[in-house]
This record gives sequence, structure tokens and C-alpha cells, in this order.
Amino acid sequence: MAQRTSPKAKTLKPLDINDFHRLFGHLNERTLRVTMSHHGYKPTRTFEFCESCAIAKAKAKPIAKTNYNFATKPGKKLLLDLEGPFLTTRNGSEYHLGIIDNYSFKEKAF
Ligand SMILES: [Zn+2]
Repeated sequence: MAQRTSPKAKTLKPLDINDFHRLFGHLNERTLRVTMSHHGYKPTRTFEFCESCAIAKAKAKPIAKTNYNFATKPGKKLLLDLEGPFLTTRNGSEYHLGIIDNYSFKEKAF
């Protein structure tokens, strides 16, 4: 006695689901299986981890805009700020370097 199979099951062509995943722009597994079945393909391997999808879905850790870790001694933590270009000075400088001591908040410009 012959086993009954649906006509659709006979015509499905085997294809690696991971190749299909890359071909169809990194679709999710559920949508891939539905799409493959619709186009007459049968997934052959298990759906594997995709590094490209993981990178695309990654979210940067929030970083505070302010920092309250002040220096405990003068000169321990210096903040540098380069500004310019400005009009060229007599000695040829176009940029100013500002140095701020994080302990005393005194500033010196060069
Ligand atoms: Zn992917």
C-alpha cells in the first residue's frame, strides 16, 4: 500500500535555510520558512546564529552626558581643549590649547 503524500510535498526542493536567510535580506526564521514553502523550497539545515543580524540589532550602552568624578588633588586630572583655527598670530599659531585643572577649575590657554 502506497503512502499518501500531498502533491505540494513532492515538489519541494531542498535548500539550506541559512543561504535563504542571506539571499532574502536576513529575514527572521518564521518568515523564512513561510517564504521558502511559498516558493517551493524545503529548509534543510537548522537556522544558525547570524553575526550580521546580531550586529544590526545591537544597541549601544547609554553613557551619561555629565561626569561627577572630580579630581581629588590639583593636577591629577586635566581637561584639554583645542580650539581654532583662528587668525594667524605673529608667531604663526592658528589654534589655542586650553588646559583646565579638574580640581581647582583654573584654566590656562596657550
Ligand atoms: Zn542575518
